[in-house]
Amino acid sequence: MDLQAVQGRLEKRLAELTRRDAALAKHLRGQDGRNDQDFEDRVAFTEMDEVIEQLDDNARTEMVDIQAALKRIQAGEYGICESCGGDIPEKRLEILPHARLCVSCQE
Ligand SMILES: [Zn+2]
Repeated sequence: MDLQAVQGRLEKRLAELTRRDAALAKHLRGQDGRNDQDFEDRVAFTEMDEVIEQLDDNARTEMVDIQAALKRIQAGEYGICESCGGDIPEKRLEILPHARLCVSCQE
């Protein structure tokens, strides 16, 4: 497994998520001009915020997982299941490079 390539992928994804996170935080603070909207529009925006906050959580979780994966690469422990200590199959890591658990522990 090409750890350098994996690390590159993870770092790129982390940078993407960080950019998106900053944009979302700005939106949630209402700094994108939506406070100028009338009330009905604001209700719609509030509903949208709930969706966005959810996304935000998912993005945050993924960012934490990616940072943990990068640390595991540094420590030479990449691809080891955090729960059972077994190897995470390379195929799984190709799909989900920041996977913390092997398939059976995930289930
Ligand atoms: Zn496991």
